[in-house]
Amino acid sequence: MTISSLRMTRDKVTVDNKKVINNDRAVDCNQLVPIKYKWAWHYYLDGCANHWMPTEVSMQRDIEQWKDPLGFTEDERHVIKRTFGFFATAETLVGNNIVLAIYKFVDNPECRQYLLRQAFEEAIHAHAFQYIVQSLSLNEIEMFNMYREVKTIFDKDEFSMIYTDGVLNPAFDTRSTLGLQTFLRNLIAYYGVTEGIFFYSGFVIMLSFGRQNRMPGSAEQIQYILRDESIHMNFGIELINTIVDENPAVWSSEFQQSIVSSVKKAVELECAYTRECLPRGVLGLNADLLGEYVQHIADRRLEKLRLPTQYGSRNPFPWMSEVIDLKKEKNFFETRVTEYQTGGALEW
Ligand code: MN
Ligand code: FE
Repeated sequence: MTISSLRMTRDKVTVDNKKVINNDRAVDCNQLVPIKYKWAWHYYLDGCANHWMPTEVSMQRDIEQWKDPLGFTEDERHVIKRTFGFFATAETLVGNNIVLAIYKFVDNPECRQYLLRQAFEEAIHAHAFQYIVQSLSLNEIEMFNMYREVKTIFDKDEFSMIYTDGVLNPAFDTRSTLGLQTFLRNLIAYYGVTEGIFFYSGFVIMLSFGRQNRMPGSAEQIQYILRDESIHMNFGIELINTIVDENPAVWSSEFQQSIVSSVKKAVELECAYTRECLPRGVLGLNADLLGEYVQHIADRRLEKLRLPTQYGSRNPFPWMSEVIDLKKEKNFFETRVTEYQTGGALEW
């Protein structure tokens, strides 16, 4: 018995013998090139090109506005806190799932290159909410424990977290069709639902404040997060579709139906969450409009997963598509500091 699976060989890795999952040490997973899945490499480059740090965004105006007793109505303060409370832990849940569940099984090196980048971005996003909570002097314990105290947030998190648990079971593996389907449920729950649906009401809510020059620093950070998240989701959907293409037996009609019903369940959970966040309308937003938006984006996610759409709802916030498409470089360089602080850390 050898102590590692590494052996000496003149056999070369070729594009043809690479697979996205279950290379199972038959293909060396330590050789990034030759790259087979060019989309994964390009998402990695795009993620790096979008690098940002939360502390580069000034929170000064948010702090002034939040401290002003007349700055916000009670309903506005409630929905803002619910939004930060949900994101405060959701980013960490996504990061943990990448590192503990996805990374182990997706053993293609170019996909792993992106997963490493994404995991770091989730750390940056968690940092963003820590920075916002601290800047506004919100109650840290209340914000970070919110997912265990507010039922509608708990339900959203539980929806995906059960699939982390499923994959963490030591007996779990992806070699059987059933195992691979369980793994796909995890990917769809996180990339399609958590990052693809559950994040979007919060994006709409905070960007609606930002469009009125309220909470501009928080809204700017949300814009960077939204830009990162759309890459996360696109990578995830490409990964899912590639696994399906390489393992067509997993995509049975029963399995497809169960994915559709689970996405519909997620839409219900998200609508319950928006009703609790917005018992009354604020800023021209209300739970009905957000519900329509959630249905609209759920249809878009289903389409990309090559599943039938379910709602046919219109997009009540057409400006969201513009924000998503916006590259944001201009604004970014106007507001960002010129040097990274890490330069100063080299004094030793
Ligand atoms: Mn994130
Ligand atoms: Fe993400």
